[in-house]
Amino acid sequence: MSKRERLFLYDTTLRDGAQTPGIDFSLEDKLAIIALLDEVGIDWIEGGYPGANQTDTALFAQPRKMKAAFAAFGMTRRPGRSVSNDPGLQDLLQSKSDAVCFVAKSWDYHVKVALKTTNDENLACISDSITSAIAAGKQAMLDCEHFFDGYKANPVYAVACARAAHDAGARWIILCDTNGGTLPHEVEEIVRAVTAEVPGSHLGIHAHNDTEQAVANSLAAVRAGARQIQGTLNGIGERCGNANLVSLIPTLMLKPAYAELVETGITQLGLERLTHISRAFDELLNRAPNRQAPYVGESAFATKAGIHASALLKEPETYEHVPPQVIGNNRRVLVSDQAGKSNLISEIERAGISVDKADPRLDTLLREVKERETAGYAYDAAPASFQIMARRALGSVPNFFEVDSFRVSVEHRHNAVGEETSVAEAVVKTIIDGERIMSVGEGNGPINALDTALRKDLGKYQARIEDLELVDYKVRILNGGTGAITRVLIESRDRTGERWFTIGVSPNIVDASFEALIDSVTYKLLKEGAGP
Ligand SMILES: [Zn+2]
Repeated sequence: MSKRERLFLYDTTLRDGAQTPGIDFSLEDKLAIIALLDEVGIDWIEGGYPGANQTDTALFAQPRKMKAAFAAFGMTRRPGRSVSNDPGLQDLLQSKSDAVCFVAKSWDYHVKVALKTTNDENLACISDSITSAIAAGKQAMLDCEHFFDGYKANPVYAVACARAAHDAGARWIILCDTNGGTLPHEVEEIVRAVTAEVPGSHLGIHAHNDTEQAVANSLAAVRAGARQIQGTLNGIGERCGNANLVSLIPTLMLKPAYAELVETGITQLGLERLTHISRAFDELLNRAPNRQAPYVGESAFATKAGIHASALLKEPETYEHVPPQVIGNNRRVLVSDQAGKSNLISEIERAGISVDKADPRLDTLLREVKERETAGYAYDAAPASFQIMARRALGSVPNFFEVDSFRVSVEHRHNAVGEETSVAEAVVKTIIDGERIMSVGEGNGPINALDTALRKDLGKYQARIEDLELVDYKVRILNGGTGAITRVLIESRDRTGERWFTIGVSPNIVDASFEALIDSVTYKLLKEGAGP
């Protein structure tokens, strides 16, 4: 039987990650991120601050579908107030969450200067808040803000904050390197010292990346006994970011020093999804995935052909620190298509399509996928478009409708009261069963007008697409200059709550959008089981 201790992973992408400059998550974004985290198998997801803003309040009001446990985040009770007289704290206690993660000062300097209260009152705020969360039937956690800097200034007080939470029954006390300047050997030493007061099985680490060592600091804390790591997807976060869970997970699972010491809740299958999840998350942020990202980047296992290439093919382990396929990545020197093909087959099977591995049509499909990805398509971000392409290649997409032509015009003018206004009008001609259908739509922009026109009259399919709704629309210009290519990602949903992502790529934004729209409608018709 395994003697390994359980290590818990706690994601704070939705809360701390949302502090990243330029990032502003909508409710839809947050739900999509939760689905990604669930696919990996993260233990805890921190949703944000219920009661503090509209998006987070709406998120906590959603019906719970996630497998992970869900945590609300907020301050301990305010100094000089009682728990029952603190509305912010009451919002946390009443939220639909499994846990409350409180944040409290643990550096006496901040207690005096920022909180303007006494050290003892801060300790009482911690105990009372933890007690109240437990009484509300939730697990209680405490983020000790500025713990490492506080420990260097006043170790007795910093540890007293952690102990106050532990004595009050907190499940987790998380030591935070809020300013991100602590170094790995310091983290290891300090966490080890704290385990003499609070058992490591109750300690977590929350590291920021200001010296690019958030991952190393998290690992150092685990070596010293901490058993929870807080981090974010792709390491997003304030300033230089948080500890990157996407780098931490493979290290914890594949490197013997950690794999023999601790066991995470991530399955082999979850690990295999990591490359996909990391890239899909970047697409959701509308930014290009980092090719040099450890483990999951496109270059992480790429070798330039040359002397290494043939040796690499014979004995890959001599040139790779871990096997790329374990994290769902690919060796990139192989142009023989074998690695690409097995990946393609598993993507097809994941889409619920059965396929014979010897089917020659797979080679054609693989070539098409590669050509399209070179042209700018990103199927990690658009599984519905991938599914349509795969089904089409394997001969199982009916020819529902053909678009004969479309036209869109935008008029900028002054209205009756002299205000500037812009109106778009689109005309779409489709052919269904040999019959030509023309429909006209108006919108506040060309894409909106095209969408309205396309979905206004789809003949015999109209009833099947009535509940199709566009949720989100993202545009990215892929390369600068006059040769710019536009990539459009569309998120759709229907009354069942299912959401799907489709993609279009073209030098022309209208064409790219229309392509993604057509895929969205086609996916919906396939899902409805519509016949030709
Ligand atoms: Zn933080």
